[in-house]
Amino acid sequence: MELYGMCSGEQEDLCGRCRKHATIVVSRKEHFCKDCFLKFIRVKQRKQMKGDLYKVKFGKSEDEIKNKTVNLLFPFLFTQSSLVLADALIYWLKEQVSMSSKAHVGFYLTIFFLGLDKPLENVKQCMSSLESRYGGAEMLEELHISFTLADGDTFISSNGSQEYLVSTANEAFCINENVPKLKTLHEFFSNIGNPSSKEYFMDIVKDLIIGDYCLKKHFSHVVLPYSMSELAISTLSYTVGGSGERIGAVIGSKTREENSNTFDFLYPLRDVLQYEIEKYTDLCGTSGFVNENKGNALKSVRSKSMNELIGGYFGSIQGEYPEAVSTVVKIASKLSGPPNKKDFKKCQICHNVVLDDPERWINGLTVLEGVPPSNEEEIENLRRYKESSFAKEKECIPKDAERVTICYGCMVAIKSTGSSCLYWPTFV
Ligand SMILES: [Zn+2]
Ligand SMILES: [Zn+2]
Repeated sequence: MELYGMCSGEQEDLCGRCRKHATIVVSRKEHFCKDCFLKFIRVKQRKQMKGDLYKVKFGKSEDEIKNKTVNLLFPFLFTQSSLVLADALIYWLKEQVSMSSKAHVGFYLTIFFLGLDKPLENVKQCMSSLESRYGGAEMLEELHISFTLADGDTFISSNGSQEYLVSTANEAFCINENVPKLKTLHEFFSNIGNPSSKEYFMDIVKDLIIGDYCLKKHFSHVVLPYSMSELAISTLSYTVGGSGERIGAVIGSKTREENSNTFDFLYPLRDVLQYEIEKYTDLCGTSGFVNENKGNALKSVRSKSMNELIGGYFGSIQGEYPEAVSTVVKIASKLSGPPNKKDFKKCQICHNVVLDDPERWINGLTVLEGVPPSNEEEIENLRRYKESSFAKEKECIPKDAERVTICYGCMVAIKSTGSSCLYWPTFV
C-alpha cells in the first residue's frame, strides 16, 4: 500500500528531510514522508543499541564470527510497540547482511512470543503473519531469526503452588498444606477479579517467565518493546501501586540480577512516543497483526486497570505536551534500584528486594483506630460490628501458617483481589 502521492494544484507540503516526497506524518513539529519517518524511528532504536555488541560482523565464514555474535532475546508482548521493534530489528539485520559478501548478522535474534493472556489461535495467527510479512521461514533463517512460543501453562504446572494470605492487620502468611496444584494460567488468573491486581500479577508472571527462559537458554541480553509512553505508564503505575523501588530497578538500570546471573535489559524504543508507534505500524501495514485493548474505550472507569487509566491520561496529553511523557521517563532513568545484597529479604511473590517493612508502612498509611463511640447508637453499632464476620476475619489464619516477606506492592495487590489471598506458583 503506497500512501504518499502528489496533491494536485496547491502548494505541496514536502518532507522536511528528503525534500522529495509529500509529507504524511508530522511529529514533534517535523514533516516526514513515509521512508524518512520509518528511518527516524529506526535511528532512535539503533541509538539505544549502539556499540560493537550488535554491530555487523565481518568474516569469510559464519563459523569464524560465531563466537563473537551474541544471542539476543526479544519478548514479543503483542503490542503495537512489539510490532515496531520486530520491524526495526529485522530491517537492521537485513541491512547488515546486505553490506558485503563477507557481512554477517550482528546478533542472533530470538523472538519469544509471550501472549499469555491471548487466545492461542490469535498468537499463532500473529506469528504466521509476521513470518510471511518478513520474507517467510527461509528468509528468517538466513537472518538467524527464530520464533519461540512461550508456554505459560507448562511453566505454571511444572511448579508447585502456595497460598498467600494477608491478614486484616496486614501480616503476610504462607500456607503449604493442602494447596491445589495450579495447572493452567487461566485457572491461576480466574480467581483475581480486580483488573489492576490481575494486570499486576500478569506482569510479574511475564517477567518471571522471561527470567526463567534466559536462565535455561543462557540468554544474557534482552530487548524489551516499550515506548516512552509505556515506560511513563509503568513509572506512574509503580508509584501509585506502592512499588516505587521498582522504577529504578526496572527502568533506571540496564542490568538485572537473578540467581547470581547478570542480564542486560535494553529498551530500544524508549525515545519513541506512542502515537509515533501507531503511525509506524500503520505505515508498515502490520498494525492489524495484534489487537490490543479492544473495546477499551467502552469500559467504565471502575473496570479499567491502573495502566489503562494512566495510559488514557498520557494519550490525552502527548500531542500538546510530549515533554510531560519524556520528563517522567527521564526522571525514572535517573533513579537506581535498591542494592541487591545477599542479606536483603526478597518478596516471595515478585522476587524484588524488600527494603522497608511493608507491614509498618501499610499500617502507618492507614488509620486503623477510629474515634471511640460517643453515644448509645455508636456503642450499639460497634457491638454489632464486633459480632459480624468482618471482625472475625482475623481468626481465619490457620495455626500452621508461616510468616513470610511480601513487598508492599504485592501486599496491596493481594488485598485488592477482594479475598486477601492468592495462589501463587513456587518459582525457583
Ligand atoms: Zn522524506
Ligand atoms: Zn512483591
